[in-house]
Amino acid sequence: MYAWAADAACQERGECGGAVTALLTHALRSGMVDAVLAVKKGQDIYDAVPVFITDPDEIAETAGSLHCGTLLLSKLIKNYLDGARDKRLAVTVKGCDAMGIYELAKRNQVNLDNLLLIGLNCGGSVSPVTARKMIREKFEVDPDDVVKEEIDKGQFIIMTKDGEHRGISMDDLEDAGYGRRPNCRRCKMKIPRQADLACGNWGVIGDKAGKATFVEVCSEKGANLLNAAVAAGAVATEPANPKGIEIRGKVEKSMLKLGDKWRARYFESLGEGKERLQKIMEDTSRCIKCYACIENCPICYCVECSTKKPYLVEPGQVPPPFMFHLIRYVHVSDSCVNCGQCEEHCAMDIPNSLYMHALQVDMERMFGHTPGVDLELPVLALVEEQAERERLFATGDDQIFDIFK
Ligand code: FAD
Ligand code: SF4
Ligand code: SF4
Ligand code: SF4
Ligand code: SF4
Repeated sequence: MYAWAADAACQERGECGGAVTALLTHALRSGMVDAVLAVKKGQDIYDAVPVFITDPDEIAETAGSLHCGTLLLSKLIKNYLDGARDKRLAVTVKGCDAMGIYELAKRNQVNLDNLLLIGLNCGGSVSPVTARKMIREKFEVDPDDVVKEEIDKGQFIIMTKDGEHRGISMDDLEDAGYGRRPNCRRCKMKIPRQADLACGNWGVIGDKAGKATFVEVCSEKGANLLNAAVAAGAVATEPANPKGIEIRGKVEKSMLKLGDKWRARYFESLGEGKERLQKIMEDTSRCIKCYACIENCPICYCVECSTKKPYLVEPGQVPPPFMFHLIRYVHVSDSCVNCGQCEEHCAMDIPNSLYMHALQVDMERMFGHTPGVDLELPVLALVEEQAERERLFATGDDQIFDIFK
């Protein structure tokens, strides 16, 4: 469907016609959910702030897309909203937010039944530090003069307070070392269909271009919200233009190809086997054991983290023994959703998410498990510990799990 807010002010505020804002407002006003978790502009366009809203009139403040915010909403739901255990929440999710939520849900850390996920297509986001540097050095504009940014038709576009519009091709920016975060370049979750609705501008053509969002209905919950919002007069829709559907398919395909290209480039730079291990050991020797990678990873939620067990990681050492990192690779790599949080929060700029993502892709090839797309359990959950211990003891086998039979 093409969809847009019925209310003119909401249309104007929205990134592409305000359908998402109108849908969230309807969900809260009608009592379909108890609250909304969304994102709004803080100090400036480089400051994306998560907001928890219970008053429908406040949702208007969240309208618009922030591409220089690198938030992940998944773990906030677990840490601060009790995993939506007894509250129904509508949440706006990019692909990585949705994938993180699915990984937490399969570990019973968030209640998916209470979540209404409004997906946003996502071509990528830029770290606030890189965005400021890029705008100063490549656009030759003071970053504080920029009032709006957007990514459209392969360009990063800025608008200044004097009304000047300028765009530079994202490919050129990335070749020059700016542009999207490394994990976003490798990302292949462009249209988050595990959400209840997936919304974006790809495929909106003709007189609706820029004024409507393409809403893909992905679940019954999503269909119910869209139908109810249309029936209440909050959202207007029309069938998507068939040519637009074709264009949308082509854009998605080319974004996936681009993701593959970047994966090959980044993973090849790591080398293989011992060479890769050596590189990871050298890079992680800068680690100051600040725990930011663990605290911000949507897969790491354990109350008693193994990296804090003195018999596994000797305490009081900086950098910590390599076992600190090995534990995380073992525990997380089959489920890593390449959200980039462990990299951008790292105090020592260690490319943690690159290592973890490279391992995850290898494991996906070996075991066929793709994290973040559905509720299928991760590889390590396929075996039951007690049964495995008994099998090892009885057979003298040295393979911890035996899923090849
Ligand atoms: P609005 O009514 O303006 O509502 C936008 C909603 O997005 C708000 O509820 C707000 O909370 C939420 N939001 C804003 N920034 C973030 C963020 N960083 N993380 C999570 N939620 C956020 N569509 C495409 O088709 N192709 C793309 O390449 C593409 N890239 C995107 C990249 C990013 C980082 C974001 C946030 C969105 C992207 N979109 C993309 C989606 C598109 O920009 C619009 O959000 C969508 O079409 C809905 O438009 P709207 O007018 O209905 O939304
Ligand atoms: Fe978007 Fe993927 Fe980057 Fe998340 S990891 S911000 S979904 S491109
Ligand atoms: Fe995200 Fe890093 Fe955790 Fe992977 S390991 S899910 S990239 S925080
Ligand atoms: Fe849990 Fe392992 Fe992450 Fe620690 S490193 S929080 S034990 S998954
Ligand atoms: Fe080490 Fe970086 Fe993790 Fe901090 S975030 S513990 S410095 S790897």
